[in-house]
Amino acid sequence: MTSNARVVVIGAGLAGARLARRLGELGRPALLVGEERHRPYNRVLLAEVLAGRYPPEVIGVPSGGAPTRARVIGIDRRTRTVRCADGTPIPYDTLVLATGSNPVLPPLRGLFTGAAPELPDGVHAFRTMDDCLGLSRALRPGVRAVVIGGGLLGVSAARALAVRGARVVLVQQAERLMERHLDPGASALVRRHLTGLGVEVHTECRVRGVRVAAGADGGARTVEAVELADGYALDTDLVVLACGVQPRVGLAEDAGLAVRQGVLVDDALRTSDPRIHAIGDCARHDGTLYGLAAPALEQADTLARLLAGDGTARYTGTRALTRLTLTGEAPAPVPPFGPGPGPGPGPGLGPGAGPDLDLAAFGDPVPLPGDDVVQLTDATRGTYRKVVVRADRLVGGVLVGELGSVGALARAWEGTEPLPEEGPLLHLLTHGTHEGGPHD
Ligand SMILES: Cc1cc2nc3c(=O)[nH]c(=O)nc-3n(C[C@H](O)[C@H](O)[C@H](O)COP(=O)(O)OP(=O)(O)OC[C@H]3O[C@@H](n4cnc5c(N)ncnc54)[C@H](O)[C@@H]3O)c2cc1C
Repeated sequence: MTSNARVVVIGAGLAGARLARRLGELGRPALLVGEERHRPYNRVLLAEVLAGRYPPEVIGVPSGGAPTRARVIGIDRRTRTVRCADGTPIPYDTLVLATGSNPVLPPLRGLFTGAAPELPDGVHAFRTMDDCLGLSRALRPGVRAVVIGGGLLGVSAARALAVRGARVVLVQQAERLMERHLDPGASALVRRHLTGLGVEVHTECRVRGVRVAAGADGGARTVEAVELADGYALDTDLVVLACGVQPRVGLAEDAGLAVRQGVLVDDALRTSDPRIHAIGDCARHDGTLYGLAAPALEQADTLARLLAGDGTARYTGTRALTRLTLTGEAPAPVPPFGPGPGPGPGPGLGPGAGPDLDLAAFGDPVPLPGDDVVQLTDATRGTYRKVVVRADRLVGGVLVGELGSVGALARAWEGTEPLPEEGPLLHLLTHGTHEGGPHD
């Protein structure tokens, strides 16, 4: 790349903003193009905004200057130009796709009609600041809300709505909450936490459709109820769709790049066109679609070094811990944590403090036959800690309510600190905490 080569980054989310900022610091400013009307922000903390814990401006992330606001609708690889929705062409020498994910909109009866491609009034996705502000505006004490989906997004949305005084029902198709991240013991604690906040949780429960009232003269359609597969209907004012995400790859597909669920990239984060790179949720590296903040930021850092001339920089994968704070009440706003991989407890909100519930999970916390497992449970304090070790390798773990050992575990998981050669694995779980022995 020549010194004045133009780098254009599409998408001003976590990955794009981080890349633009890093390139600026390395003396290679890029043009960052994003469609959202808000300055770049830390999407991981949206539930905290919904819960009233932070005002929106507090979760902003630096991007080395304001992005250009535009939606890119096409890439012409021959002329090396991208086209914006308002017709503006933007030439590039190097292009980076950082387009993130779209929420999955499930094929529920009544959600869309041919004549009405928009979501009915009262039905919200939970991906963007505008989704969050739209939901926030609809909230009044006692409003009825149904959250569809009991993964990380659905659980965060449900507790935020409950904290704001909504009467929340969470409907989860799987047999337990956050089944991709947590083992049954930890899921049960999360369920107990939500129930304690007044959330009604239904697992192994499938939603069949939504019942919608047509507005007068064919005006806006408004949601009235959620219909379950067993025929039962939950009357509601609000519905939150938290049914997962899919990488946003339309631009790449239309441009003829290699896509398999995500945009395929190599260790230099290059797509099948060497002038185009992809990072973050939209990229698929070495068979993995991460959909998490830590890999998105790590990929942005690696690509910044590469584009700034460090030909040795390579991305070889991220072993990320997922952290989540389920906050039981909305305390006074506190300063941001910055664009880190996940929310940590705020000042004064240590493990077990008040009605908060801190979670950290990684790898596979469900053991196979022959694995070593150490588990500490304290039903009174609502804490649960577990690690799974296979052939001297940490393969998974989960901490709920007591995160004192998360640093030691993270280092062992990321492979920067060996597992203790001698002595009990208990060390891993009690390292950094104030207590020791198992409670059961
Ligand atoms: C509510 C919520 C909670 C989450 N919690 C966690 C968590 O606890 N831990 C964790 O690790 N991860 C979490 N995630 C996931 C995490 O936010 C994502 O992995 C991360 O944001 C990915 O960064 P990204 O830059 O790839 O995508 P995004 O942050 O989604 O940014 C993509 C940006 O590109 C823009 N864009 C797309 N196409 C175009 C176009 N054609 N033209 C212009 N702009 C475009 C989009 O509008 C968007 O602003 C959470 C996500 C949500 C929604």
